[in-house]
Amino acid sequence: MRLRILLLTLATAGAIFAQDDVLAHVAAHADRFGEISRQIWENPELGYHETKSSALLQQELRANGFDVKNDLAGMPTAFTATFGSGKPVIALMGEFDALPGLSQKVEPKIDPVTPGAPGHGCGHNLLGSASALAAVAIKEEMQARGLKGTLRYYGTPAEEGGGGKIYMLHAGLFKDVDAVLAWHPGDSNRVNLGSLLANNGGRFRFYGVAAHAAAAPDKGRSALDGAMIMLNAVEFLREHVPQETRIHYIISNGGAAPNVVPAFAEVNLVARNPDAEVLDGIWERIMNCARAGALASGTRMEFVQGTNYSNVLPNDTLSDVLARAMQKAGGYQYTPQEKQFADEIEQTLPGPVRSPGPDKVTTDKSETVGSASSDAGDVSWVVPTAQFIAATFVPGVGAHTWQGAACAGSSIGRKGMVVAARTLALGAVELFEKPEEVAEAHVAFQKRLAGRHWSTRIAADSKPPLDYAVK
Ligand SMILES: [Zn+2]
Repeated sequence: MRLRILLLTLATAGAIFAQDDVLAHVAAHADRFGEISRQIWENPELGYHETKSSALLQQELRANGFDVKNDLAGMPTAFTATFGSGKPVIALMGEFDALPGLSQKVEPKIDPVTPGAPGHGCGHNLLGSASALAAVAIKEEMQARGLKGTLRYYGTPAEEGGGGKIYMLHAGLFKDVDAVLAWHPGDSNRVNLGSLLANNGGRFRFYGVAAHAAAAPDKGRSALDGAMIMLNAVEFLREHVPQETRIHYIISNGGAAPNVVPAFAEVNLVARNPDAEVLDGIWERIMNCARAGALASGTRMEFVQGTNYSNVLPNDTLSDVLARAMQKAGGYQYTPQEKQFADEIEQTLPGPVRSPGPDKVTTDKSETVGSASSDAGDVSWVVPTAQFIAATFVPGVGAHTWQGAACAGSSIGRKGMVVAARTLALGAVELFEKPEEVAEAHVAFQKRLAGRHWSTRIAADSKPPLDYAVK
């Protein structure tokens, strides 16, 4: 407390005072939310099954004076937590789902806590917790300074393929929001005008006729043949699509035994491209490959829609707000033990590591396209949205890896989480202080939209695939 009084005395300029204060609120709650991130990490839950993780965040936000609404848009683990009223409405997003098979201890070598169990390889335990930490700090700053407006935290389930945000968008839960500030765990502290790949995916089911594969193959029509002809055609197609396209798949069912002509086979395929409209054209050609497989094999093909995420529409104004915020927020240093852990993790990575360390903050206007996809992309087509990454992972560590899961449970992860919370808090407070920037963000949003609007293959009246991750 004495230190705080000293700081207040030293703060001569009002602006400095304001800035330092929201960061003081972040600091005051950082340990608590670090502990929450660790609890979520210790109990990794797959998409739409994040019951404990969601409840923990809800409980903490409720205890801090937020009005919590849960079980939204047909998703038991979706929630919103709101503070304040009126305009502007500034939103933060929190994810908390884990990934299958990525169970991992905080160790610099592969060592699952429970072999085959889920783990937080994408750091979503930190994602949800940092946004909640920021929300509490922003709320305290709004109260202390009488800042007008609404602050809302969106607890968004099942980012890893379940598309929780899309169902929240369909339910109109974002319709009054003016700006979204978002982040994702990464291996550096970075704000830019980055995007992510649009994706589309689903299951291609082939139905044939079973027969004895040796005694009566002529009586059979192989569903696996249909799947393989489709995939051969997809492999030829790969040469004739824009090179930044990604097409990846598994044969999720290829029959039961080699001596039975498979009556059923299933291909689970995802395609990606930086541009959702270009992807639409490619997707039609993939559908033709599947139709060709069915035609050639004398089987019937049925398509079941899966994930469909939009690319990210960056927002120039909000990105500037986040860049200023992150420059003030700053990075962090490793302790000697953390440095040793980071060095040992680096030994396990292929190729040279090019990411700067956690003490660096990089902010620029480059329009990079990350190789992943997220339903945050869909939100960015409906509400002005900007996002950034914070260094929760050791340099060179990618998401969806055991190294990512190890970092996400470590003190390095929690330090990166605080960088994220500081950045979000400073950014949101700036927007509440300067509503004219919110208006500018809307103009920038319209400019990027250029007359287009959000579209998705996920039907507005469809139900969230609550069991997609445990099928
Ligand atoms: Zn993620």
